[in-house]
Amino acid sequence: MGFTSEIIHSDRRSGVEHGSIHKPVHTAVTFTYEDSRELAAVFQGKQQGYTYGRQVNPTITALQDKITLMENGHSTVAFATGMAAIGTTLFALLRAGDHMISSSFLFGNTNSLFNSFGTQGIEVSFADATSCQAVRDQVRENTRMVFVETIANPRTQVADLVAIGELCRELGLVYIVDNTMTTPYLFRPVSVGASFVINSLTKYIGGHANALGGALTETGLFNWADYPNLYDNYKTGDVSNWAITQVKKKGLRDFGATLAPEAAHHISVGSDTLALRMEQACANARALTTFLHGHPMVKKVYYPGLADHPQHERAAVLFKHPGALFSVELVDEVDCFDFLNNLQLVVCTSNLGDTRSLGIPVAHSIYYEMGPERRATMGIDDSLVRFSIGIEETEDLLADFDQALGV
Ligand SMILES: *Cc1c(COP(=O)(O)O)cnc(C)c1O
Repeated sequence: MGFTSEIIHSDRRSGVEHGSIHKPVHTAVTFTYEDSRELAAVFQGKQQGYTYGRQVNPTITALQDKITLMENGHSTVAFATGMAAIGTTLFALLRAGDHMISSSFLFGNTNSLFNSFGTQGIEVSFADATSCQAVRDQVRENTRMVFVETIANPRTQVADLVAIGELCRELGLVYIVDNTMTTPYLFRPVSVGASFVINSLTKYIGGHANALGGALTETGLFNWADYPNLYDNYKTGDVSNWAITQVKKKGLRDFGATLAPEAAHHISVGSDTLALRMEQACANARALTTFLHGHPMVKKVYYPGLADHPQHERAAVLFKHPGALFSVELVDEVDCFDFLNNLQLVVCTSNLGDTRSLGIPVAHSIYYEMGPERRATMGIDDSLVRFSIGIEETEDLLADFDQALGV
């Protein structure tokens, strides 16, 4: 079955109560048992069931199962935000003295988070993940994990996903792929050997800028029997569940960044149209980048769909489409703030993956705090404007960019 046929019927097939077409929003914080022995069995993990809403509830379980299906994974745990998924997972599985390698091309808050890890005794080395060799050069005796994004924001670098997957398998490293920019519709990290997949559900999967959420999906590919930081009481049953169980207990339960049931419902409904939205948004991004490439007011367009993009071939092989996000550097005579102000349809804001097209001057906003030196290493010029393209009709977007650039 196709992507959409599969996911839109998945709730129903798992038997929703009362034949309800949606999984209901369960707002109950706690779940009761007639038999106190049953309650004890659920607490001890000997029986499936719900206890307290900070850990999971039926609405969240339905969404988790849907993400697992989308990612062709083994199991999923949802969080309040994408950042909570990243932070909680890493804190639950790394210890002081461990080392991790991260792509240097990162979502701004992930970069900020990784910079704080040093204060907890966890060292993070940054490497140009478009080259597997650059990642290999950073490997140390105590390296535990490699973290990359598929298409990085805002300059759209595409990580060497296949080769890094092979490197991680060769060296026994946990391979974490943040799939937010591509979504499981364009790319499944399990296909390149990822151990874990991260998705910010706030972005394309939810898709309507009305709910925050994040998810971690276990692919079942990593042999956790060799991983040192797991507590003995989580090392029971199927080995591929050990690490995610520790993330659920030591991470989600103890840190408490739980996804709200109402948000889970919004995200689940939004995700039904992921494929349709991605098709339209990616087609729009292609049309716009073709128009902007070589436009007299535009110095440079960064989009993996363009033939002059350094990882154009790689993106064409790996991804169904090269994404719906691109960045533009304007010629010196055009002020990036004026350009954004001239756009009528495109909304000036942060966020990405909305149904609406969004634009933002990144050096002056989301990447401001990291300072000019780190921005330079990430290739973020002061005039760079990032666009997350939505599902408007292509002609309307083309007309808007055309009039905003004037001549
Ligand atoms: C937005 C984003 C995140 C964080 O997600 P939130 O839901 O905003 O916390 C992580 N990674 C990438 C690539 C993102 O774009």
